[in-house]
Amino acid sequence: MNRPLRIAIVGAGPAGMYAAGHLLEGAGGTWLDGRLQRLVNRPVEVDMFERLPVPWGLLRHGVAPDHPDKKQVQQVYEDIAARPGFRYFGNVELGVHIHAGELAEWYDAVIHAVGASGDSALGIPGEYLPGSLSAREFVAWYNGHPDYRDLAVDLSAERVVIVGNGNVAMDVARILSQSPDALAKTDIATHALEALRHSRAREVVLLGRRAHVHGAFNNPELEELGELPGVDIVVDTGGLDGTHESLQGLTDTATLRKITTLQRLAERQPKEHPRRIVLRFLSSPVQVLGEGRVQGVKVARNRLERDEAGQWRALSTGEVQQLDCGLVMRAIGFFGQPLPGLPFDAVRGVVPSEEGRVLQGGQVLPGHYVTGWIKRGPRGIIGTNKKCARDTVRSLLTDADAGRLPTAGTLDAAAVENRIRERQPDYVSQSEWLRLDDAERRAGRLEGRPRMKLTRVEEMLAAAHPPQG
Ligand SMILES: Cc1cc2nc3c(=O)[nH]c(=O)nc-3n(C[C@H](O)[C@H](O)[C@H](O)COP(=O)(O)OP(=O)(O)OC[C@H]3O[C@@H](n4cnc5c(N)ncnc54)[C@H](O)[C@@H]3O)c2cc1C
Repeated sequence: MNRPLRIAIVGAGPAGMYAAGHLLEGAGGTWLDGRLQRLVNRPVEVDMFERLPVPWGLLRHGVAPDHPDKKQVQQVYEDIAARPGFRYFGNVELGVHIHAGELAEWYDAVIHAVGASGDSALGIPGEYLPGSLSAREFVAWYNGHPDYRDLAVDLSAERVVIVGNGNVAMDVARILSQSPDALAKTDIATHALEALRHSRAREVVLLGRRAHVHGAFNNPELEELGELPGVDIVVDTGGLDGTHESLQGLTDTATLRKITTLQRLAERQPKEHPRRIVLRFLSSPVQVLGEGRVQGVKVARNRLERDEAGQWRALSTGEVQQLDCGLVMRAIGFFGQPLPGLPFDAVRGVVPSEEGRVLQGGQVLPGHYVTGWIKRGPRGIIGTNKKCARDTVRSLLTDADAGRLPTAGTLDAAAVENRIRERQPDYVSQSEWLRLDDAERRAGRLEGRPRMKLTRVEEMLAAAHPPQG
């Protein structure tokens, strides 16, 4: 029989898992084009390396806890992980325990699927005062990411300001505004639930740089805000009456739907509910204010002007208003981080690539591939990563078929396992992850929740590893 094609994947988020799925499905020879049939009939083995003990990336640590339906895709990843040829090495970090160059020697090829773990910056004074966080950090905190377990989240002031109005901003506004009793039925991290129970935040203000028509949210997320029990929605209506130039001649149905929802929400009479969410438009923060910690934000009123390409851009009118608040969150986008040993495009925050093949100085770096947010930038829903991973796997298998992979992989499965055990004795195997998963689900069942997430690496390792002796 042919020697197996051995692939390392770094990052067990959606993109990495879909890549594994395509590779292991390809072994059946069913989905790739005819030219690759011969190759895919060769057995494929995938070793998945993940820096956390737990897999699934932003599906676990990004997707909002009150959206359990979106988390059902986890079953797909569990099925992929159960396929013959798949191995999981959790708690193993590229750049710490393993390195890109050596993976390319040990394996026939490496797929990097590490996501985007940094933030875009506002570039305004006071941006990094205590009490000014990125939405990425806050989301990771309420979802129980161990790196953010001890994040200082001060919910003692009445107003929270969120910069940005995309779906992540909507998630954050919902989590801050809804009843903790409703959240108690979800898999939200217990430390976050406790903090939210004591929250004094009564008003969440979302600042959109441009007009209503440019709101980055999707309509279902907007409608969901309007349905939150005990929460008034206040919409800044300037330019929403249909007379603003940016609304003229609009035909895009998704945008028209959002405008209709905004109009409906704007017409609703506030009911003096205990909490409210304020959607402001044409508003940009120009300074985060405070002595030693956040006490407010200076917000400029914008106007719209068309640029040379005919696109609307926001320009300050010079009118500035101060909003008192105790917490400011930047929800203006994630940004990829460089990986040791790999090229990086610092402008786009991605590893440069062409059809999934990593490029160094414009040339293909043989044996290295990318998929997911580190390839495309932080855009797209979970499903987008499936096609993205498929394109990358197609390139990889095409290269394997054409003899363009640089080495034949110097370590077999047993040798890799020995090497990883030497480097990281506390790695978490697939069966150990299943143990941990089972412990979380069992603890959740006792509380009427889908799972009780473990939020410290030590707790995760204790649940994963069988007791000694
Ligand atoms: C707040 C938020 C909410 C979202 N909600 C939804 C939603 O409701 N529905 C939807 O369809 N999409 C949603 N998305 C989008 C979706 O989460 C992304 O499309 C998807 O997670 C991107 O997948 P990825 O695998 O590229 O990155 P990630 O999910 O970030 O996975 C990357 C993985 O790589 C690991 N890693 C990083 N560095 C290393 C290293 N050096 N060594 C080893 N491992 C490493 C990480 O720990 C992580 O597990 C949301 C995104 C965010 C940010």
